[in-house]
Amino acid sequence: MNLLDFNTRFPDENSCRQYLKTKREQEGVTCNCGGITHYWISTRELWKCKTCGSCQNLRAGTIMEKSHIPVRYWFMTIHLMTSTKKAFSALEIQRQLGMDNYEPVWYMMQKIRKSMGKRDMRYQLQGEIEVDEGFYEVVTLPEKDHLGNLIREEVAQKRGRGSTKQMKVLVMVESFPNPQPSTDKYRKKRVMGFVKMVTIDDLSSTGINYELKKSLDPTSTIVTDGWRGYSRSTDVIAKHIKNIVPPKEAHKTLPWVHTVIANSKRQFLGVHHSIGKDYLQNYLNEFCYKLNRRNFQTDLFDRMIVAGAKDTWY
Ligand SMILES: [Zn+2]
Repeated sequence: MNLLDFNTRFPDENSCRQYLKTKREQEGVTCNCGGITHYWISTRELWKCKTCGSCQNLRAGTIMEKSHIPVRYWFMTIHLMTSTKKAFSALEIQRQLGMDNYEPVWYMMQKIRKSMGKRDMRYQLQGEIEVDEGFYEVVTLPEKDHLGNLIREEVAQKRGRGSTKQMKVLVMVESFPNPQPSTDKYRKKRVMGFVKMVTIDDLSSTGINYELKKSLDPTSTIVTDGWRGYSRSTDVIAKHIKNIVPPKEAHKTLPWVHTVIANSKRQFLGVHHSIGKDYLQNYLNEFCYKLNRRNFQTDLFDRMIVAGAKDTWY
């Protein structure tokens, strides 16, 4: 869907609300009492439960719950975030929507990123998986200034606004032998499958095994460098291939994981400039969500609306 299609499909707020209603009803509206049949009260945009009589509004239980931003702005933001290869800063989205305040736009985008992460958490990686750690620069900043305004991440790194530190990220990338091997020596010998990236505090075997167990199918094989934190990985997965090579050679044994780390860092630096430490996972979610769906023929927009209609922000 390009921008013109978007405008044709969603010319106004009403068309967006109608679409959200249809999607939610397709997914099934559920009441707190467990009731699944409702009356639709169109004048108030509410579903009334046929079992207990309690009401929920159009946005209840979705990522848009309690948000005052028009549904069409949410749709436009989701469209921009999912339809392009590039990433957008909150400042840029604020400009594109013509909104006065930065803060609600920033929160909206964090919610969308969180929802993207929840989607990807439902899958486990399989087969042969390259695993390595990346170190990402984040800022620890007072989130609000003395007037209580959210500090823009874009300006966070300016002098006096918080300090920078490195955060550890465990990066896991499925890779398969290339079915059509290339003779080009610069082309990678393997092709990339799905990717997961999770922030991690503890790089000991306990911390690493905890993440591997959550993210990988137990039948998987991991390929790593010689870091001792991987030494007990076969407690949670089937096989461990350890390649001890000089750092300069590491891109040969773990080609995709290094590409993923480099590309994500380049994007974060180019678009967001700096990222608050509590939000790095959200940016990783967005990066992986789009990377994992790079070959999808269908529109990511509809998928994301369905995801957002189900998931709440917590
Ligand atoms: Zn009910």
